[in-house]
Amino acid sequence: MHILVTGGAGYIGSHVVKQLIEDTNNSITILDNLSTGHEATIDTLKEIFAENKRGKRSFNFIHANLADFVNVDEIFAQNKFDALIHFAASIVVPESVENPLKYYMNNTVNTTNIINMCVKHSIAKMIFSSTAAVYGDAKEIPVKETTPKDPINPYGWSKLMSEQVITDACTAHDNFDAVILRYFNVAGADSLNRIGQSFPNATHLIKVAAQTALGTREKMALFGEDYETKDGTCERDYIHVDDLASAHLKALDYLDKDDKKSPDIFNVGYGHGFSVAEVIKTMKEISGVDFKVDKEPRRVGDPAILISDNSKTKKVLGWTPKFDDIKLICQTALAWEKTV
Ligand code: UDP
Repeated sequence: MHILVTGGAGYIGSHVVKQLIEDTNNSITILDNLSTGHEATIDTLKEIFAENKRGKRSFNFIHANLADFVNVDEIFAQNKFDALIHFAASIVVPESVENPLKYYMNNTVNTTNIINMCVKHSIAKMIFSSTAAVYGDAKEIPVKETTPKDPINPYGWSKLMSEQVITDACTAHDNFDAVILRYFNVAGADSLNRIGQSFPNATHLIKVAAQTALGTREKMALFGEDYETKDGTCERDYIHVDDLASAHLKALDYLDKDDKKSPDIFNVGYGHGFSVAEVIKTMKEISGVDFKVDKEPRRVGDPAILISDNSKTKKVLGWTPKFDDIKLICQTALAWEKTV
């Protein structure tokens, strides 16, 4: 099978590509505009591919922009893709509040176009990166796939709208099937420290805490201590990026099944959470650095608690997480940060 991975030079995409190289026999083409992904990541993936030669399968990188619809059409016409894993997106909640149109263009509009390309060029399978942000201030905890969706920021809306486009396309087109994965809070890095999160101006908690522990930042902020949670700080379901990546391989297998539902939607998280204060404490412990934390007001767009119910993902996809350990997540994030 030949798989097109958009955003494969980015954080989550590169971990999925790594597993596709190491654990499957598929050919892979990455399409990325390198806006937040990195050429160095592509080089590392090429090395991993060279170490895992199998048959005649190929590995290609196309430097292209998904907003260039004419070029994307040409790329689909020139290649015979069998499946699409679509990561390329903007993902920072506070930025989406300040610049919503960037999110509707990069996420919703470009996703709509690439689905159109799949239907036009007969690509039968798609895996879509969605987010727990579609649940907003979730109406029940843990969050099930059936929990009402009510985003509280443009990022969540941009992904929920994309889910709707996928749903309608699957309903209308018999030869187009999709799996939608709703990610909870992804963190950590490859255990061999070959790839990790190299996002400039990172805003995600574990990355920020790792940077502060290493002195890249003088201090960090803790946003809000007055939430109705166990210690007043927000709670999230932090999942190791390699466990998230393995859910994509399971989703590819699922799309081959005759009894699949399409689209089908799965939460990808561990089913339990940690507070912001607990994460900061863990990072201080494993780094041995008592870094400075400023207590600041709530950040706009933050729900108090987001924790997954992952029972459907385990049962239907047969997904078994291997790295459910907040210390390991923080350790791999810190080890990677030292290389950046
Ligand atoms: N957070 C924080 N300081 C930071 C970054 C994040 O206190 O420097 C908090 C944030 O307000 C939220 C939680 O950590 O309550 C997780 O935020 P993150 O941006 O990592 O992920 P999100 O849940 O927004 O996708």
